[in-house]
Amino acid sequence: VTELYFGVDFGGTSVKLGIVNGTGEVLARESIPSRIELGPEDLIARIAEACEKLVVKHRLDRGTFRGAGIGSPGPVDLDAGTIVTACNLPVSFDNFSIRDSLSKQLNLPTVFDNDANVACWGEYWLDGMGVISDMVLFTLGTGLGGGVICGGELVHGCTGNAAELGHMIVRPGGRVCTCGQRGCLETYSSATHIAAIANEALDGGRKSALADYRTQHGPVTSKDVFDFAMRGDALAGEVVDGAAEALGLALVSLRHIVEPARGVLAGGVIQAGEMLAQRVKKFYDQYMWTQHPEPMEICLARLGTDAGIIGAAGIAVHALKK
Ligand SMILES: [Zn+2]
Repeated sequence: VTELYFGVDFGGTSVKLGIVNGTGEVLARESIPSRIELGPEDLIARIAEACEKLVVKHRLDRGTFRGAGIGSPGPVDLDAGTIVTACNLPVSFDNFSIRDSLSKQLNLPTVFDNDANVACWGEYWLDGMGVISDMVLFTLGTGLGGGVICGGELVHGCTGNAAELGHMIVRPGGRVCTCGQRGCLETYSSATHIAAIANEALDGGRKSALADYRTQHGPVTSKDVFDFAMRGDALAGEVVDGAAEALGLALVSLRHIVEPARGVLAGGVIQAGEMLAQRVKKFYDQYMWTQHPEPMEICLARLGTDAGIIGAAGIAVHALKK
């Protein structure tokens, strides 16, 4: 009998949910608006309802469901299954156990983790497990999240908030981060900052084909920066190199700490494609010590838009096996 799991990917604007089997195949998927202003009880009730509807719609046997997993924006309290004061959620979410509430509504064991860890586990489960046991992943989006897998397990740290890779300081005294530090990886390699760095350079009078483009289309996005870098624009190329260099530096440090076999780049920014992975690799090789070469596989995530659903189901599969 096939064992089935619900995978839920909770984001600020929408919730993606799906039904996933024990080998990571997505059998059904759905997306509902988060409507976070209605509060967490309402949200969890709507998630559970959408899950049950999906089971009926696809004529699946509800008795074969073994568990559920949910990924959420952090920081999280893993023991309690709650989000700890996420800045972009209403205060009603503080100290509300998303995990326990969903578990009760679905009447299934439910596992909870932050969205970047969930994305990391999804990639590892379907593309690494059995081949490697140590991996790091960066989610390059509005912010920059991360996940670290050591010895086949996600690293959670002493309060459950390890692997905040976006807040590794890569340039002392550098750009100001929302976290209060300066020079965080996030301030060079997230979509938000890739766009901001280019726009700031144009504001400062830098000559670039992006200047005319901006006059016609409005502020430059990270996608524009990558597009223009591909076409050989010098400013766009510098900004992409800055993002890649910061990631390369972070990977050198991570290699020395946990020795991952693979570094994976995930999130919206990777639509830029192989160019980004190749440039990160170039900087990694440049900064890594030379006495004892330690090549690392640096690649793009492969799961695409189902990553959150697959990863969430995957943490449930893994936790329930133990
Ligand atoms: Zn930071």
